[in-house]
Amino acid sequence: MINRADYVSDKDWQGFLDFSKELETPCIVVNLQTIRMNYQRLRGLFPYSQIYYAVKANPEKEIISMLAEMDSNFDIASRPELDLVLSLGISPERCSYGNTIKKARDIAYFYEKGVRMFATDSKEDLKNIAQNAPGAKIYVRILVENSTTADWPLSRKFGCHPDMAYDLLILARDLGLTPYGISFHVGSQQRDIGQWDDAIAKTKYLFTSLEEDEGIKLSMINMGGGFPAAYTTPTNDLSEYAAEIKRYLVDDFGDDLPKIILEPGRSLVGNSGILVSEVVLISRKNNTALNRWVYLDTGKFNGLIETLDESIKYPIITSKDSAGGKEAEVILAGPTCDSMDILYEDYKYRLPVDLKVGDRLYFLSTGAYTGSYASVSFNGFLPIKTYIMK
Ligand SMILES: *Cc1c(COP(=O)(O)O)cnc(C)c1O
Repeated sequence: MINRADYVSDKDWQGFLDFSKELETPCIVVNLQTIRMNYQRLRGLFPYSQIYYAVKANPEKEIISMLAEMDSNFDIASRPELDLVLSLGISPERCSYGNTIKKARDIAYFYEKGVRMFATDSKEDLKNIAQNAPGAKIYVRILVENSTTADWPLSRKFGCHPDMAYDLLILARDLGLTPYGISFHVGSQQRDIGQWDDAIAKTKYLFTSLEEDEGIKLSMINMGGGFPAAYTTPTNDLSEYAAEIKRYLVDDFGDDLPKIILEPGRSLVGNSGILVSEVVLISRKNNTALNRWVYLDTGKFNGLIETLDESIKYPIITSKDSAGGKEAEVILAGPTCDSMDILYEDYKYRLPVDLKVGDRLYFLSTGAYTGSYASVSFNGFLPIKTYIMK
């Protein structure tokens, strides 16, 4: 069903098979060179922007260090993420505290370590920043609706109405902070490029009204993430995103663009990873049932949490994939004693009818939101291991 060559080149696939054949499953193999190429491509497509890698997407040290060497900055959400990035010798000026939900003492910690750029979306948080990070640069995250066209929406929980963003930036100035810019996140794996148009238009309105009414000149737009990785649901090519977004920016801001920040996660690391799992059991629920249940040694709790609501549909291939071999629909489930640990039941993957216990399943495009998203040891299953292929 899935054409592997649409996702991984023959050469990378061969390299991956050699690298992974002796590894215990389940595990994730990340190809660093793929991330390097993604980064270069993104830079080429958005030459006017600065990149802040969203560390949560995949916090492996080798990835962070390589991106740092390539000039990336870092979007950070917690103290341990900051400690990790700083421990790799990266300077705090290259870090932004992008989480709008934080404790006053976390703000103080970031400030003490040298971070000077903070996101906010509420008065309470802004006051905490003023107290614990005097003079810091503030950007306010605005609310954008993205629940239907983003496969992993980030709406509702983050951001505030533009009218409130307006008030917060005035308050930021009055509290001695530096009103710096506006941010938004149109939703992860956003398939509708038009979502950036709406968000940029709202941003423009704020830039103009704050300057005209209050003399506050904002200088930065943080356009967040949302750029796609390659899963089974089609998206436009990244070059289409780049062309459209540039057009929206120029329509609203003219040629003299403010400083533009991007915070890619999924689009940088998603297609770099292949999750390797093994078939533990194949069964049917009654003697005449058409569908096989295929149980794997990986599930929602050890790497595949983004199958919640079957949101992300990874390309899956098997060690049995034979040209022209017969396939039939399956239900895919994980190994734990929790009935929510079913990966795909509504959406039916077709797998070879001669699939056997012990065969391997390869989940492609699992470089983002997998390894670090696994539980500690639910049911005794260890967190999934990541191996880096240099
Ligand atoms: C998670 C996150 C990102 C990364 O989003 P992707 O869709 O994975 O690119 C960027 N910015 C913020 C603030 C985030 O929380």
